[in-house]
Amino acid sequence: MLARGGEDLDVRRRYLVAAGHLQLPAEPEAVHLALYSWQDRLEDWVVGQGLCGRSVDSVPLFGGAAASCGSCLSYLPAYEEALRREVTALEGRAEARTARAHAGDTVENGAWFTVWLEARWEWVTSRMTTEQREYAADRVAAYSAYLAAVDGEPERGEPAGLRWWRDSGGGGSRRGGGDR
Ligand SMILES: [Zn+2]
Repeated sequence: MLARGGEDLDVRRRYLVAAGHLQLPAEPEAVHLALYSWQDRLEDWVVGQGLCGRSVDSVPLFGGAAASCGSCLSYLPAYEEALRREVTALEGRAEARTARAHAGDTVENGAWFTVWLEARWEWVTSRMTTEQREYAADRVAAYSAYLAAVDGEPERGEPAGLRWWRDSGGGGSRRGGGDR
């Protein structure tokens, strides 16, 4: 569970590291445990206090040193649990961000949006069953909602006339071209 040197540490996270005692005459010899976190102001990783509350050496003991401070070790399970929760929360936020960013942003939605934008939508969809064009309209609406979110206008509704068959009482209309 202790962070080791040489691995890629995530600056958004905190880690536990082993840290030596301060080199002072009265300081008991021990290897402590401390939180290791990125400090934006210093632009560097910083060793905190020992979990036991003692000040510790500012350079972590990477390389597998075992903690020997009984007080630090007694706090270890609680800290490990807290850090696990931090990681879970971090992953949850990342997932939520991804979901928000990409909910409507699929290849299929984008393709149908292009059909709506560039083709004669009424004519194309008049060739479909109502079920098919409702599906296509759902894809367009989803992509449109995604674009609205990107634009910061989540209240924007779906494009006008998207479901023209509903407006016209359904079925049969061949407005929009397609004279063959
Ligand atoms: Zn300690």
